[in-house]
Amino acid sequence: MADNRVTYRRRNPYNTTSNKTRIVRTPGGELRTLKKCKAGTAPKCGDCGIKLPGIPALRPRQYAQISKPKKTVQRAYGGSRCGNCVKDRVVRAFLIEEQKIVKKVLKEQEQGSKKK
Ligand SMILES: [Zn+2]
Repeated sequence: MADNRVTYRRRNPYNTTSNKTRIVRTPGGELRTLKKCKAGTAPKCGDCGIKLPGIPALRPRQYAQISKPKKTVQRAYGGSRCGNCVKDRVVRAFLIEEQKIVKKVLKEQEQGSKKK
């Protein structure tokens, strides 16, 4: 039985994302279609838009079914921003704080010299 005709068992003929199929050979040598699930999309960094490494691309329902540690990385902004963007944020915040301290010190020095 080397019949190479595919048996279609569904009656939806449209080539849409929710109607993708793959062809399998059954143990009886018959070719049949199997319905494919929709492909999931990976979460992306909110700043630069790259796919977040370490987090799987799943459908929404599947995200609800896996545990929290599989959906995040153990870092500030993990699961939301990529490592490089977090690094930029940390450096920026640090520099702003440093600048504030420098301004404060300069102001104090100015006031001190005026009093004397
Ligand atoms: Zn990023």
